[in-house]
Amino acid sequence: MNAPYGTKTQGADRPVRCYIGLGSNIGDSRATIVEALKRLDEIPGLTVEAVAPFYRTAPVGYADQDYFINTVAEVSTTLTPRQLLDGLQQIENDLGRVRVIRWGPRTVDLDILVYGDQIISEPDLQVPHPRMDQRAFVMVPLADLNPGLVVGGEKARILAGRLAKEQEIYADK
Ligand code: ATP
Ligand code: MG
Ligand code: MG
Repeated sequence: MNAPYGTKTQGADRPVRCYIGLGSNIGDSRATIVEALKRLDEIPGLTVEAVAPFYRTAPVGYADQDYFINTVAEVSTTLTPRQLLDGLQQIENDLGRVRVIRWGPRTVDLDILVYGDQIISEPDLQVPHPRMDQRAFVMVPLADLNPGLVVGGEKARILAGRLAKEQEIYADK
C-alpha cells in the first residue's frame, strides 16, 4: 500500500498525519514562525504538508502581553510522539525561547495538537492537546486545513466558527 504522505522516512514505514500549532509574540513573530516551519520541515522523518494562513490573536491565559501570530501546520512523520516533541522543543530552544511566565510572552511555541488518532496522557505529553478545543487561535487555522476533523466530538469548522465569535482573531496580512 502506498503511504499517503511524504518521502523522507525514518523508523516506522507509514507516516502519521499530525497537526502542529505555532505561536509567537516576541520580536518579528511572522519571520520567527516562517523560520520555525522551515526547521520543522528539515527534521529527518518529517515533512510539512500544508500551512494554514497566519492569524493575529489576543493573548489567552495571561492578558498583559502583546498580540500573537498563530498558525497550524499539517505534517506527516515517522517520528514517535516523543521524538516529535523533542524536535519541537529543540526548535523552540534554538530560536531562543525562554520560559518565564506560564502562558506568558514567548519567541515561539510549538505544540503537538493531534498525532494521527492517538490519545496520549502522560505527565509531560498530552495528545490531542488538552486545551485546543477552547482556543480560536488553534481551531481557526486547523479548520482552514481540515474542516471536517473531529475535535472533542465536534467538527473543527463548527468549533472554529463558535470560538471566532468569542475571541479576538484577525487574518494577518
Ligand atoms: P499550553 O500547553 O497551554 O499551550 P504552553 O504551550 O505555553 O502551554 P509550554 O511551556 O510550551 O506550554 O510547555 C509546557 C510543557 O507542556 C512542555 O514541557 C511539554 O512537556 C508539555 N506538553 C504536554 N503536552 C504537550 C503537547 N501536546 N505539545 C507540546 N507540549 C506538551
Ligand atoms: Mg502552547
Ligand atoms: Mg507549548
